Amino acid sequence: MEQDKRGRMPSLLHASARGRNRMQLILVVSYIFLFVLGLIIGSFLNVCIYRIPRGVSVASGRSVCPGCGSMIHGYDNIPVLSYLLLRGKCRSCGARISPRYPLVELLTAGCFLLCGVRYGISIETVLFCAFSAVLVAVAFIDIDTQEIPDRFHFIILGLGIAALFLVPEVGWISRLVGAACISVPMLVIALATDGFGIGDVKLMAVSGFLLGWKNIVFAALAGAVLAAVCALVLIALKRKTKKDKIAFGPYLAIALFTAALFGDTIVSAYLSLFSL
Ligand SMILES: [Zn+2]
Repeated sequence: MEQDKRGRMPSLLHASARGRNRMQLILVVSYIFLFVLGLIIGSFLNVCIYRIPRGVSVASGRSVCPGCGSMIHGYDNIPVLSYLLLRGKCRSCGARISPRYPLVELLTAGCFLLCGVRYGISIETVLFCAFSAVLVAVAFIDIDTQEIPDRFHFIILGLGIAALFLVPEVGWISRLVGAACISVPMLVIALATDGFGIGDVKLMAVSGFLLGWKNIVFAALAGAVLAAVCALVLIALKRKTKKDKIAFGPYLAIALFTAALFGDTIVSAYLSLFSL
């Protein structure tokens, strides 16, 4: 554990052994907290991913088994654990429960943990945990429906406005340029062809405002490369043909999450290759 670039935790370097141990204990406890919180939020995201495209409120009513319609009890709704205990089957009818449910929970927990490891106990961790939760929902809803509901764009815009005040290191000019520099060219391409949907354009606009221009440029390049590589692999494996529409959202989500955590580091390393 050492001091990071922004000078966080400098006291750690000079702290006594006992103080250092206590600090490490606090960090470990906060990592466990973030992981468990991620599992719980991931469980809620499963509800969102299932209900929002069907126009059902996420706040009302207990979850029911899609197979038999019986209500799922609280003790059968513990993230990951219930899936393992029930061996992936409904307690009432024995219908198979998709492994996607525990996967979404573990994925969200993993994202929260990574945010904690990267940003420590800080406001960035809170903002980017929320951002990653939105990205998980966006990715899976886009896979299911090829659409990104507008409410997720508004949540990211809200996070961006909060960040404007809470993370002033990224200036408002960088945020405004970030909101436009990828989304405007994308909008032109989206209107001229149907390479990607308007939902993707809005996602990059609000994420650009949250992350700033350098990170959103990185995210756009990384997302495009990732999508192209995956499309080639899927076509080579004959799982898709050239004519199939492939949802772009999941690739953008992965790229945006990477940019939120490591964009600065990667862009600086890349620019230093040219001594910029
Ligand atoms: Zn059932």
